[in-house]
Amino acid sequence: MSITQQLLAVKQRIYRACIKAACPQQQVRLVAVSKTKPLSMVLEAYAQGQRDFGENYLQDALDKIAANTHTDIVWHFIGAMQSNKTRAIAENFAWVHTLEREKIAQRLNDQRPEELPPLKVCIQVNISNEANKSGVSLADLPALAATVNTLPKLELAGLMCIPAANQPVSVQAQAFAAMAQARDQLQPEYPQLTQLSMGMSADLELAIAHGATMVRIGTDIFGARAARSSATPIK
Ligand SMILES: *Cc1c(COP(=O)(O)O)cnc(C)c1O
Repeated sequence: MSITQQLLAVKQRIYRACIKAACPQQQVRLVAVSKTKPLSMVLEAYAQGQRDFGENYLQDALDKIAANTHTDIVWHFIGAMQSNKTRAIAENFAWVHTLEREKIAQRLNDQRPEELPPLKVCIQVNISNEANKSGVSLADLPALAATVNTLPKLELAGLMCIPAANQPVSVQAQAFAAMAQARDQLQPEYPQLTQLSMGMSADLELAIAHGATMVRIGTDIFGARAARSSATPIK
């Protein structure tokens, strides 16, 4: 199938999941995850109206962003972040989904160019409490949210998670439900914290059933990714 056809199929899955969950379809934003894929594939999806694209690997992303001429593409950084990469992220992206440290938040704030609107951020939550996985615990979430909220060049927009893989559906459902609960608990204090970035190719329906507002879909739009030769993501 072409990217055009696969994009359409994903949009239909989102549409059906929204009907089932009785949520308005416009409430779920599709972030097409183009990591490791060439700009030509991004542009094929763009031609079909796709505007939100997610990238994990900074240099790969920066090459595409530099070569792209469409100013209405919205770039989402969804990869692991190290301090020495924050400037390029602050300068080139509209969204970060993977914030998990105060120090990184501070740097992104300080390095966000004055002329750009605040960087929208989702705090990543290690919702399945996995060892050596990214994200803050639910216990540490309120403190990080409070810090981000004090930073004028960041907008605390939502929460993000990647639940543990290979779990029974009921366990994954619990993880998504816990995310929605965490968002609902923070929202009275932070009214702009509305987004739940959760759901990938394999579990977008389950995520939407539990209130996802942004799904991040790579494989089912752009096809399988080749294993990265370095094995570890470039941070
Ligand atoms: C790669 C990636 C995705 C997309 O995953 P697919 O299974 O290919 O849809 C979503 N979110 C994050 C954080 C990713 O790294």
